[in-house]
Amino acid sequence: MPLTQQQRDRYARNIRLEPIGRAGQEKLLASSVLIVGVGGLGSPAALYLAAAGVGTIGLLDGDRVDLSNLQRQIAHGTADVGERKVVSAREAIVAINSDVTVRTYDRWATADCLPEIVAGYDFVIDAVDNFATKLLINDACCARQVPFCHAGILEFEGQLMTVRPGQTACCRCVFGGWQRHAQLADGPFAPERQPSATARVAAATQAGVLGVVPGVIGTLQATEAIKAILGIGELLTDSLLTYDALSMRFRKVRVPRNPHCPACADHGGVPARRDAPANK
Ligand SMILES: [Zn+2]
Repeated sequence: MPLTQQQRDRYARNIRLEPIGRAGQEKLLASSVLIVGVGGLGSPAALYLAAAGVGTIGLLDGDRVDLSNLQRQIAHGTADVGERKVVSAREAIVAINSDVTVRTYDRWATADCLPEIVAGYDFVIDAVDNFATKLLINDACCARQVPFCHAGILEFEGQLMTVRPGQTACCRCVFGGWQRHAQLADGPFAPERQPSATARVAAATQAGVLGVVPGVIGTLQATEAIKAILGIGELLTDSLLTYDALSMRFRKVRVPRNPHCPACADHGGVPARRDAPANK
């Protein structure tokens, strides 16, 4: 649909970018992105995608806003404490840009619901805080061939990677065998920091985190979504980008695709269904 005068004004700075132009803006308005987890990573991702004019944004989260979330989950405000996160974030998105249609899923991500939901979107942002749910998102996106951006944060560090299922390394290719990836030893999901699923969930939900770290990483996820939709630039595929806020160091580590990956190899299917714990 051609842009209105108001849209040409609103998105003028996007349109002035040569690889975007009016056609690219129309593409963004016709596109859809699902954000799983509307917390520290999902908040900046949602707000920037809304501002950029991504036409449909899906928000999936079963949690409610807690006072302790506000230090980093910038889609929610003090008045939203106790409110469902998807409702609070929808209000923030609409306040920025009423061009955006927001679909809300007030529920936890499970192996039963995810494949069907992700299939309705052009791109998915993994913004959950526990590894079991990250694998569910990985498997659902691989099964439905939906590109997505994985990310994780802990304390002063973050990491992300974009996956084009069937074409580039997925999370199971990279994290499937912790011991095989000693080169990732300084990342938040490094082997020694992943002693057990329970500990991982506890680490992510109770550990400290500098609020700007998910802000940086979630914003990078939104950047990847926009590039993927527009088909511009180079996606962060077959590479893991790590960020250390204390040393202010970014590192890009090449990660190989596993030809026998149970999630994304040609002969593979989706691993046995197993629901993850809460993805708050
Ligand atoms: Zn894989």
